[in-house]
Amino acid sequence: MTNIQTINQPLSQHIKADGSVTTLPEYQSNYGYQGLTKALSMSPSEVVNWVKNANLRGRGGAGFSAGLKWSFVPPLEKLPGQRYVICNADEMEPGTFKDRWLMEHDPHQLIEGLAIAAYAVQADTAFIFLRADYDLCAERLQHAIDEAHAAGLLGDPVNESGFSLTMLLHTSAGRYICGEETALINSLEGKRAQPRFKPPFPQVSGLFGRPTVVNNTETLCNLPHILYHGIDWFANLGLGDDNGTKIYGVSGRVKTPGCWELPIGTKVADIIAMAGGMQDGVKLRGFLPGGGSTDFLTEEHLNLAMDYGTIQHAGSRMGTGTMILLDDQTCVVGMVLNLIQFFAQESCGWCTPCRNGLPFIRQILTDLEAGRGQHEDLEHLLKLCGYIGIGNTFCALAPGAAEPLQSALKYFRDDFVAHIEQACCPHGNSPKPDNGLKKEAM
Ligand code: SF4
Repeated sequence: MTNIQTINQPLSQHIKADGSVTTLPEYQSNYGYQGLTKALSMSPSEVVNWVKNANLRGRGGAGFSAGLKWSFVPPLEKLPGQRYVICNADEMEPGTFKDRWLMEHDPHQLIEGLAIAAYAVQADTAFIFLRADYDLCAERLQHAIDEAHAAGLLGDPVNESGFSLTMLLHTSAGRYICGEETALINSLEGKRAQPRFKPPFPQVSGLFGRPTVVNNTETLCNLPHILYHGIDWFANLGLGDDNGTKIYGVSGRVKTPGCWELPIGTKVADIIAMAGGMQDGVKLRGFLPGGGSTDFLTEEHLNLAMDYGTIQHAGSRMGTGTMILLDDQTCVVGMVLNLIQFFAQESCGWCTPCRNGLPFIRQILTDLEAGRGQHEDLEHLLKLCGYIGIGNTFCALAPGAAEPLQSALKYFRDDFVAHIEQACCPHGNSPKPDNGLKKEAM
């Protein structure tokens, strides 16, 4: 393991080992809300440029520059009137729990970041769109929002400036598709959560037809530190081409699953080492680097840097940066089936490839896992991955769902073949085939 810097990481500096929430005085004792004060001393366009030059990339999965995204919002002089910022805290990506960690332990960090974003685009209303199941986050966030309003850090005015901001917490009704920003906006308007046509992009016409910026929780949590410490400080935190730190996570059969804030660009092997490595007697076979909708990588990729460019070059995506490990005692067919089941259930049903293709894939995988598969099923699966792939569907849900499957067929094809030829799984704890029942007999 190389020497990982785990101290003095900005986003997790207030997080306490006992799991209790950081109070407002505790947060303020270590430059809390000073980033907002700094932002308010600058013009909104200066704040936009500051964040753009810091090259803060969105931490929700897409990796798009946050400052650049803000710069698409028309200036208030050109388009007067209401505008909104929304924190996308609808964290439902399988295997991902980093935003929950930030919100449960340090809600003021998010509130300060969201207020900075609101000032930059001159929004007077901000929403936190929170995953329905995150009860503790909801309780702690609402308490912190009330505290900030009472302390004059939100409201009219913010921190004795000429800027005013109302912040509201909205809990989702509980659909994965609400993580897509335009479906989120539809949901917030009280409509069915389906993605919208783009253009127009939300920065021009979003919530209630007004300019709207949607940023991920972790992205927003970076802002107070970037404003307070500066661009060079942020750039120096990263190990490679990307700047800052990243909340990485590990789940699967490791000794201590969890998440850690590390310099962005930390090696995959070093992140897994943070989780104590694999459990005794279990061997790593592969990993989904950025949550359940990214392509598998394997042992040969363990020395790669976990940053956007490197992981993309290797054939996957950094996604949320929270990896799911596959071990030698877990059935990869069962693992992929589990994911496809989730995505099929969460399809909004708007486009045919996703609405019909995912259940079709689910059925084939169910048959394979039960020992009813046939060789031609593997070609059908590959064709279906193309059918639901990029460019054929309305949003990224279905192409994302295809990624673990298509890469499992590439790296672990022998496992699929064994399910067909031996009607069983060569690896441990998968469900047993149902007495060798074959399709022809059905
Ligand atoms: Fe809805 Fe799926 Fe189409 Fe996305 S890809 S719009 S989730 S049906």
